[in-house]
Amino acid sequence: MRQYVGLLEKMRGQLDEQGQVSYRLILGKEEIELNPLLGKQLSLQCEGVIHCVACKRLIKKSFQQGYCFPCTQTLAQCDICIVRPELCHHRHGTCREPAWGETHCMQSHYVYLANASGLKVGITKGSNMPYRWIDQGAAEALPILEVKNRYVSGLVEVLFKKKVADKTNWRKMLQGKPDSIDLIAMRDQLLSQLSVELDALQAQFSEKIVNFMSEAKVLRFHYPVLEYPITIKKADFNDQGILNARLLGIKGQYLIFDQGVMNVRNLLGHQISLSLEGIELETLE
Ligand SMILES: [Zn+2]
Repeated sequence: MRQYVGLLEKMRGQLDEQGQVSYRLILGKEEIELNPLLGKQLSLQCEGVIHCVACKRLIKKSFQQGYCFPCTQTLAQCDICIVRPELCHHRHGTCREPAWGETHCMQSHYVYLANASGLKVGITKGSNMPYRWIDQGAAEALPILEVKNRYVSGLVEVLFKKKVADKTNWRKMLQGKPDSIDLIAMRDQLLSQLSVELDALQAQFSEKIVNFMSEAKVLRFHYPVLEYPITIKKADFNDQGILNARLLGIKGQYLIFDQGVMNVRNLLGHQISLSLEGIELETLE
């Protein structure tokens, strides 16, 4: 019997040249290829042992997807400006961790359009492409603007949010593939609608802060899903902390089981064990 135990991290998605996404489940030091487990009966156990994803100490309850409460109050990565980068306050000297901000925020960011459940705008660091879109379960994505830093990406995103959603409807994302959107046409239309606002924003800075990515191409993503759920319900562990369920698909940071869906982000830092009892070994290599 193969059993893996460790603290749950975000699943790692990989994209091949055909746009096929494959996932690995990360349990501490263990990395388990998930695509070969599609259609198989898995046994997961979660007994409520949680360690903060940042400082690793044992905690009773986690906040903001896996952190202990003190970490949410002291780490820059837990500050409001991470979800709303237009509120970056590094230039005022009030960043919780100025050196962390220098490394993570003071670098080129990208404004993109994506389609996971319909058109949306978002921002990402270069090193997060294409993983950002895999995490969202996007079917299509197109980077449109390269901007000077995270703060500027927030200012630009605020302009786009007047015209386009910035959230994914995760239920819809999990229920199938969205209708394809012509992202190039949408980009050109939005840039023309927002040209006055974008010029006014640029005028507030002495150096060039926004570059149009005219050469960027649309990326397409195909997820390992045998069957999409018709209605969305949560897959739950029973009173003994056990979930026995057949894996039907993986999309975004969700595992789709015959018993319901599981958002891996909600369990980050939890000690999870995965048992592959009865699964033929050759399918795992
Ligand atoms: Zn902590």
